[in-house]
Amino acid sequence: SEVNLNEFLKQTLHAFQNAYNRKIIFNNELQPSLMVDTDEQKLKQLMYIFLDNARKYSDKAITVAARIKDGQVFIQMIDQGIGIHKDELPKVFDRFYRVDKARNRKSGGSGLGLSLAKELGEVLDIKIDLESKEGIGTTVTLYLQF
Ligand code: ATP
Repeated sequence: SEVNLNEFLKQTLHAFQNAYNRKIIFNNELQPSLMVDTDEQKLKQLMYIFLDNARKYSDKAITVAARIKDGQVFIQMIDQGIGIHKDELPKVFDRFYRVDKARNRKSGGSGLGLSLAKELGEVLDIKIDLESKEGIGTTVTLYLQF
């Protein structure tokens, strides 16, 4: 169904920020009236998976950027946390996979989040790009059609 992306993002980020007491910097370049055809609950679930990882694997504010380019909507979630070593990157979307460093963190986790995100991306027809550098941070980009 049609979702006002601005309203959706504002609400979702506000709720996340309040729930976890973690600052989110929202760089929003979208038109206030932009509508996208998607499943709001599933999109929220998808964003929460990445926001939650950004929260668990970084200590700083999380940046979320939203803009349109070449007929596609981009939603980016950027953290400046521990990042992921390039050898681990191909495996993080696998079920139950956790990088050693993450296993040792008290934040816990089952390694299921990203495998669920991959499935949600397929259901919603949202392409997911995850870029990461160990010690620098992680950027996730969602590409939505509108
Ligand atoms: P959960 O299932 O509770 O989300 P999880 O965070 O361990 O647990 P995934 O979300 O599937 O599982 O992530 C898999 C692994 O990828 C993590 O264990 C972590 O090592 C790594 N990872 C994911 N996102 C990030 C991030 N933003 N920064 C650093 N490492 C990350």
